[in-house]
Order: sequence, then structure tokens, then C-alpha cells
Amino acid sequence: MILKWLRWRRRKRLLASPFPEDWLTILDNNVLFYRNLSETQQEKLQRILRVIVAEKYWEGCQGFNVTEEVKVTIAAQAALLVLEMPGQYFDRIQSILVYPTAYFASGKTMGPGGVVTEGDSAREGEAWYRGPVILSWDDLLQGGRHNHDGRNLVFHEFAHQLDMLNGRFTNGTPLLETKQQYEQWQLVLHSEYQRLVQDCRGRHRPLLDCYGATNLAEFFAVATECFFERSRQLKQKHPELYEILQGFYHQDPASYIA
Ligand SMILES: [Zn+2]
Repeated sequence: MILKWLRWRRRKRLLASPFPEDWLTILDNNVLFYRNLSETQQEKLQRILRVIVAEKYWEGCQGFNVTEEVKVTIAAQAALLVLEMPGQYFDRIQSILVYPTAYFASGKTMGPGGVVTEGDSAREGEAWYRGPVILSWDDLLQGGRHNHDGRNLVFHEFAHQLDMLNGRFTNGTPLLETKQQYEQWQLVLHSEYQRLVQDCRGRHRPLLDCYGATNLAEFFAVATECFFERSRQLKQKHPELYEILQGFYHQDPASYIA
């Protein structure tokens, strides 16, 4: 209780000071979706990203220097996911590790069990249960600067974190609000996942990245990338999937992402 109060007081103090002017330049250069947001959305995003920048432990790997530009670029993209989830600042994530580029690692498992790694041996990112989020700067910058290609590493890894909020297993089902929402989620997600598995065997490239056909956890992360990056196409081609994601994120990006 006291810890919560101290945190609340610390955040209040942090947000009482004006938003750093040079951070706006960073957003303008590296986070393309920012300019499409309404003024109210931009203010919300600024608040969330400031808390993330201030409260996470940031560490550069392989000699990478985690500058303010790096922190703001990551935090802004993560903040979009929870823009309409009041009080959600990814509190369970304590540290964010950044590599300069895709990195090589071994000895970790993929899928359920509290860790999700992306890529085969050269990795772009990882999401650990209650542990760090690990990202490659090259890839996450690419994601921030190209906001219509359906790929965004930060959205992907932080979607895994939302998936882990109801336990250490990533299963493609995050914490939902009602029983009905869970039933609908299972129904839509499973059938859309099967559809992607089928489509990826065919000749035509589906809208959703075939990496989502790996398992349901990857499907949710890939669907999240598509929801924010190719929202209009997703709404048109997968209206049911769009609708449940809209219900979960409490956002309608097709209406504001140009
Ligand atoms: Zn993943």
C-alpha cells in the first residue's frame, strides 16, 4: 500500500514538469504514428512514455549506448498499446535491454514457459515473464519509422508482455474483462489462427505475417502488429479479429492511423 502510494506520488511529481521539448523531435523522427494521433491521444502517450522511461532499468548490450533517443523511441511505441488502458505502465517489466542490431543467442526455449524468443539464432527480440524485454535497436527503429508494413518489434514484444499478465504462459489470451469476452476471444482467435495456418500453405501471401502461424502466442503478437500498422486492411479482411482486438485495446486505429 505504501509502495503504491510512493509510486503514485513519484509519478505525479514527474508528470507535473513539462514534456521535454527535444523528445518531440525524437517522436517526430522515429515514431511515425505519433503525428496521426489526436492532441488528447498525444498527451496520454506522453504521460505513459515518461513513466516507462523513468521507471525501467535500461541497459545497452554489446557496448550499445542507451541514449534518451533510444528510451523515448521504445517507450512511445510500447505506450501506444496501453493508450486506453488507464494505469497500465507495464509495471511487471523491470528492465529493458537493447542490442545495437539482431544478436546471436542460444539455450533458450520458444513458446510457453515464460520466455518467448524471436528468430532462429539471430534474434530481434525477446519477452521474458516478469523479466526483461530484449530488443534490437536496428529492428525497433525500423518498426517506428515504417508504420504501414505490418511489422513492429516493440508492439510484438510488448503484446507478449500483455499476454503474460494472466500467468507465465503465453497462450495468445491476455487478461480480459468478462466471461463473454473470453468465450468470444477463444472462438475468434482459434479460427483466425487456423485460417492463417491454412493461408500460409497457399500461394498468396496473407495480410498477417506467417510468423503468426507458429502458435497462438505468436498469432496474438503478430495480429497486434497488424492491428496498429495495417488497421484498415485488417478491419476489412478480418472484421471479427479486428473487433475483438478493438475491444481489448479499447482503440480503433483504423479511424486515426492514416
Ligand atoms: Zn513473438
